[in-house]
Amino acid sequence: MNWKVPLFDPDLGPEESDALVEVIRSKWLTMGDRTQRFEEEFAALLGCRHALAVSSGTTALHLGLLAAGVRPGNEVICPSLTFVATANAIRYCGARPVFADIDSLDQWNVSRATIEPRITAKTKAIVVVHYGGYVCDMGPIVDLAKEHGLAVIEDAAHAPGASRDGNCAGAWGDVGCFSFFSNKNMTTGEGGMVTTDRDDIADSVKLLRSHGMTSLTLDRHKGHAFSYDVVRLGYNYRMGELNAALGLAQLGHLSERNARRGRLVARYRDRLADLNGLRIPFHDHGGESAYHIMPVMLPDGVDRAQVMEALKQAGIQSSIHYRPVDTFTDFRDAGLGPCEYLRHTHRVGDGVVTLPLFPSMGEDSVDVVCAALRNALVL
Ligand SMILES: *Cc1c(COP(=O)(O)O)cnc(C)c1O
Repeated sequence: MNWKVPLFDPDLGPEESDALVEVIRSKWLTMGDRTQRFEEEFAALLGCRHALAVSSGTTALHLGLLAAGVRPGNEVICPSLTFVATANAIRYCGARPVFADIDSLDQWNVSRATIEPRITAKTKAIVVVHYGGYVCDMGPIVDLAKEHGLAVIEDAAHAPGASRDGNCAGAWGDVGCFSFFSNKNMTTGEGGMVTTDRDDIADSVKLLRSHGMTSLTLDRHKGHAFSYDVVRLGYNYRMGELNAALGLAQLGHLSERNARRGRLVARYRDRLADLNGLRIPFHDHGGESAYHIMPVMLPDGVDRAQVMEALKQAGIQSSIHYRPVDTFTDFRDAGLGPCEYLRHTHRVGDGVVTLPLFPSMGEDSVDVVCAALRNALVL
């Protein structure tokens, strides 16, 4: 399908191709200096001690949870209004995802108020998701975690470069997890990053991403180490140099592209403000969003499939972020859902439509989308 306005379009150009060619000429394809530089620059962006590049956002979550001590039999609280990988990573650890509702029909993030009732004697950790790039109200969540001795893991897949109350997304909790999948704010094709201020967590992640082996390829190459031991059951979750080279190029443009997304979102808000019953979340959100996506909630009683079909007829691609995870077949089969108490999550799940948003999108395209949505709603 040739869309007039696609949902998303990644910014990739000569800078990225040149970076890739350089890596190929160097013949060093894994765990080299590009990965190291990417990690250093990413840590500097967040103002945290460690950033560790991994193969995806999902593996970042898996390792972040393991390093934070999540084990079989634990419960881990997370939102249901998220990508399925958030909850799957908890299940990889043998733990049980326990879903918390979003705070309200305006703030589509979990909050202290929605997390607290889900805490039991088995709870080990809380995974928050900064939905759409809007950072959760982290102060009260971190306090709650401290009161109960719980780890906090941030799924910051939507939120590279976002901040709130003086802290970056991914620098609030014990661990931050980022994704560089192709439709995220910055991409490495496939890839992810684990961020932390805790040296013990950084050490665990380094071990676990590379087979639980005690010395790294680069150290051996430089002659620092001739042998290695395997001290934990690890994985091969490393990032390649080609991906890291893409990441470095993309990172250099992140703040300018996030700002551009923000201007487009402001235009959407302005153009859609008078549409009766249409809800645009995060109306007065404190903080600097990464503006990952442009979700709206359709007025009550409107047929979403019909609206999305009308947008499609106008050449506009739309999507749904998200069908609540607790309603998926496999989660039902595993006894993890559906959860009736997720009232706001399920209402949003039924009514949300994600509109196109990407940095190279023109202001005129925003107007085209808004006009098409307006038409679809009056039909
Ligand atoms: C994209 C995404 C992930 C998974 O990242 P991958 O790199 O695709 O593995 C996890 N959580 C959220 C909220 C995401 O949007």
